[in-house]
Amino acid sequence: MNLAVIGYGGMGSYHVKTLIPEQNPGVQVVGIYDIDPTRQKEAEKNGLQVFPDLETLLADKKVEAVLIATPNDSHKELAIASLKAGKQVICEKPVAMNVADLDEILAVAEETGNTFMVHQNRRWDPDFLIIRDLYRQKQIGDLFQIESRVQGANGIPGDWRHLKQHGGGMILDWGVHLFDQMLFLVDSPIKDIAVDLSFILGDEVDDGFIVYLTFEDGLRSLIEVGTTNYTKLPRWYVKGIKGTAKIDDWDLSGEIIASAENAYAAAPAPIQAGVGLTKTMAPPSEDAVEVLSFPEAKAEYPTFYENFAAVVAGQAEPIVKNAEVRRVMLLIEKIFELAEEEATSLNL
Ligand code: NAD
Repeated sequence: MNLAVIGYGGMGSYHVKTLIPEQNPGVQVVGIYDIDPTRQKEAEKNGLQVFPDLETLLADKKVEAVLIATPNDSHKELAIASLKAGKQVICEKPVAMNVADLDEILAVAEETGNTFMVHQNRRWDPDFLIIRDLYRQKQIGDLFQIESRVQGANGIPGDWRHLKQHGGGMILDWGVHLFDQMLFLVDSPIKDIAVDLSFILGDEVDDGFIVYLTFEDGLRSLIEVGTTNYTKLPRWYVKGIKGTAKIDDWDLSGEIIASAENAYAAAPAPIQAGVGLTKTMAPPSEDAVEVLSFPEAKAEYPTFYENFAAVVAGQAEPIVKNAEVRRVMLLIEKIFELAEEEATSLNL
């Protein structure tokens, strides 16, 4: 399949250089279109054809598919034009700025019969796949609390990510990944949401947030993104009724400690804690717990591009389904709505 890239910036060029070659799906990149002359020069330097404008790219019969990797506010217009020109479309996340825009895209996809798939690549992250395995295989029993965090100290990167009009802010950036993972993972509807957006850096868009989701089946999750964290909390902290798992980082450092269910285990001895004594917070005695190794982190589904090629060929269902992408967008709309609501002051 011949694919052209619209938006040859950080992510567009990563698709060309790394994702497509690594996933080896029988997709060739035939060229790019970018409005920035320096990116056009870079593409030429890398041996890629540079389309002079969008119309020329879309009119070119050899281009069967496009990847849209431009700032968030331009996805809708580019997706609709590409679908109408008969192209199969991959769109970077977030798919659009809101549900209404997404619905317009999906209506055109339906009308044209062309494939439209969103690149929710973090469904393939090894750390996520470990948590998914714990959720499904219950190595530490049923999970009742899942904390998913990414934290950095570099503020909001780049230029357009600072601006509302371009769909900037962390909810629409890392938030999309973490919400997508959580909703793909948990097999229960959301019952309740609590939201805390942060504006520490003084931008017009959120530079981080904490969102609590409570699911109908009782599971609670905390999703946090921070860009002013000079030291960070673990990527995942997960509690099951028989143990606790912690994945510190993408290098998969961390541990799983499970109850050994040893009836003869000695009660923990009290420890000195600050200027007091505690038995409650003392570490469990050694024979009361066991250390489990992380389950093998493998997706049972093919890579994103392999799946895309199979979907276009009519041989597979998409792994990233548009209905799932729409549910994440609905959640994001709800989060923004809750964040806007006037806070009442308890003045306690
Ligand atoms: P970027 O600013 O590095 O690149 C965007 C490029 O698009 C720039 O080169 C810009 O000149 C070009 N551009 C802007 N408007 C255009 C238009 N109308 N037509 C053609 N080109 C245009 O941004 P980025 O970090 O590469 O992000 C691009 C998209 O990829 C965003 O939607 C972002 O959320 C997404 N992204 C996804 C992941 C992921 O892991 N899936 C990671 C990073 C970025």
